[in-house]
Amino acid sequence: MLGSTKLVEDVTVNLLRIAVTSLPDDVLGALRDAEREETSEVGRTQLRTILENVAAADRLSVPICQDTGMLTFFISGRCLPDLEEGIRRGMSRATSEVPLRANAVHPITRKNPGNNSGKGVPTIHYDYSDSDFTQVTVMPKGAGSENMSVLAMLTPSQGLKGIKRLVLDTVIKAGGKPCPPTIVGVGIGGSADQAMLLAKQALLRPLNIGNPDQQLAALESELKQALNLTGIGPMGLGGKTTVLGVRVEEAYTHTASLPVAVCLQCWAARRASARIARDGSVQYSREGFW
Ligand code: SF4
Repeated sequence: MLGSTKLVEDVTVNLLRIAVTSLPDDVLGALRDAEREETSEVGRTQLRTILENVAAADRLSVPICQDTGMLTFFISGRCLPDLEEGIRRGMSRATSEVPLRANAVHPITRKNPGNNSGKGVPTIHYDYSDSDFTQVTVMPKGAGSENMSVLAMLTPSQGLKGIKRLVLDTVIKAGGKPCPPTIVGVGIGGSADQAMLLAKQALLRPLNIGNPDQQLAALESELKQALNLTGIGPMGLGGKTTVLGVRVEEAYTHTASLPVAVCLQCWAARRASARIARDGSVQYSREGFW
């Protein structure tokens, strides 16, 4: 087995190449369904162009969008030593090899180190457990959709009605800016930071896998239906496909709080996962392991 830092570096480069040059099958399937069912001619043309663009990127192994995003990593399973160092090296290498756009800048001076690294980046979330493998998932997310994220500290009395209103208001206000059709991640409960993490984690669940919680599944389906009645449509140019799906996650919260986060994901809903076994063998998946 390679040294674990070098192994993670190589896995990170491979994962990023997979993630930015292709779309997971569930997203691709939803875009194809939408193109078939869209009733607006302009909307259908937008979806057709998106699909042609994705096919060309896959064929040429180039990024499907010029904004290869900021990178969030989700780590689960077995703890690997020096994992973070391996990810940082891989991310820097991928920036020149894939290539990725150098998006990471200092928040105030806007100085760009040119390799997507810097203080606090990439974002890495850990959820270790006793397992035979380490799972690394990456979500590259463009600024157009990330900039539309919203966190609201609702009052408990606003309840489900307030949650639905916030999701609708967020999508309507965003209009075409997040490059619709979007996938809408909603995080309900926890603390303020946890709600936003839940909203982002919700985006990892493939569109063809329903919410195991019946109440949340019903909420997802109701919100999707309502959002697709807004008429915003593909790229905001009108149509009945404003969202490809709504994904909701929840956590218990303080009795006096109701944090709700909404995180919009553009049509370029990129993600990829790898499982690194104890013997160093690696399995990759664009959809994740579900
Ligand atoms: S929001 Fe998404 S599709 Fe639009 S420019 Fe950014 S990464 Fe590309």
